[in-house]
Amino acid sequence: MHIALLLTGNELMTGDTVDTNSAMIAQRLASDGFDVVHKVTVGDSQSLLIEELKQLASRYPVIIVNGGLGPTIDDLTSLVVASLCGLPLVEHPDARKHLDEWCIKRGYTSNQANLKQALLPAGAHVLANPVGSAVGFAVDYDGCTILTTPGVPSELRAMLAGDVITALHKKFPDAKARLIRRLKIFGLGESQVQQRVVDDIPSWPEQVQIGFRAGLPLLELKLEVESDKALPLRAQCEHQLRALFGNYIIGENDETLAEIVVALLKAKGQKLTLAESCTGGAIAAQITSVAGASDVFDAGIVSYSNAIKHRVLDVPTEVLAREGAVSRDVALSMARGALRLSAADFVIAVTGIAGPGGGSDEKPVGTVWIAWGSSDNLKVEKFCYGVARSRFQTMITAVGLDLLRRQLQNIDEVPNYFRGKRP
Ligand code: ATP
Ligand code: MG
Repeated sequence: MHIALLLTGNELMTGDTVDTNSAMIAQRLASDGFDVVHKVTVGDSQSLLIEELKQLASRYPVIIVNGGLGPTIDDLTSLVVASLCGLPLVEHPDARKHLDEWCIKRGYTSNQANLKQALLPAGAHVLANPVGSAVGFAVDYDGCTILTTPGVPSELRAMLAGDVITALHKKFPDAKARLIRRLKIFGLGESQVQQRVVDDIPSWPEQVQIGFRAGLPLLELKLEVESDKALPLRAQCEHQLRALFGNYIIGENDETLAEIVVALLKAKGQKLTLAESCTGGAIAAQITSVAGASDVFDAGIVSYSNAIKHRVLDVPTEVLAREGAVSRDVALSMARGALRLSAADFVIAVTGIAGPGGGSDEKPVGTVWIAWGSSDNLKVEKFCYGVARSRFQTMITAVGLDLLRRQLQNIDEVPNYFRGKRP
């Protein structure tokens, strides 16, 4: 079930567009049991594209070509595939029909450039594009099936889920969906997780493949088996991992910290408020990215300056002057201020030095105080994570959410998030 990818477009070569489509394709295909084993990126050059297609076709049963289906002259995919296969480009009735309907729906009149999108290699089979004007197509060349797909990510996603997957299952009737289980971990480093698995579970069954992936901010443990028969064994392994990592396992598969926090608050029928300084509203953005967040999210204050910390959240000016904005008392005072302002039950308040400037010996870049909890159970801790600004903000946002998750789940333990770097 090996598949090659050919990504096209000068914008990918210059770096004007960063390729995310290949990851989307590989992930979508993997869940159905198809492996992307080779990927190549080529600019908008007919000769290079033809050369690459020839080579890939001699080695793989399927090539997915991405990009270059559009109406502009740099969109070469149909032309290149037609020339490779020695076929004329002809107007395909299904592609033309799709284009006409697409134009009518949007009140456009089609022009010569648009009509180019209906010109496909003679005999090509159309791959429907439910969201865009250009259809994809499939042709066979030298025993290899070439599937062409649009570069626009939303169009690609829709086509992958539809005609592309259908075409692949037709080509490989024996392909079976992957039996994958992912556990998401937060609060432990990658090497710690790996070491613990090696030390504590020495005899790992061969039928269960384990994989580690250090994402930002979550770490992922992937358990995969090949057949239904091995599912009980996979469940046993998962049980062992759960015993090993306990409350550091925050969820499963695609779950995020924000989703888990929103779900926990929903289950309690309670609300959250936020007072953010160095995270600049990133916690609020994460919470509001979850559908249904309005049931649990009351307000978030981005209180960046000392003046606003005082005026909006009522942090006393003398505390700000005496302790500095990045301090235990200011974090607590921000949290209390946000709770007073809102009707919420829980709060996360964050004040820290994201850097690269603003650090001192006493408070180095990366120092952050987080206060969290409810008015009758407010906690506060200091952490230090001196890394690049964006990484700091991503991790501290996750730490804030994780601390609240722990409290909502009645877990008292506060992790040493940054591997002993906590001052
Ligand atoms: P269009 O009809 O828009 O011309 P197309 O099928 O010809 O679509 P391209 O012209 O190659 O596709 O790309 C259209 C847009 O899709 C690009 O401007 C880019 O924003 C995005 N895109 C293309 N390839 C990728 C990729 N590999 N990863 C992410 N985005 C991509
Ligand atoms: Mg294009």
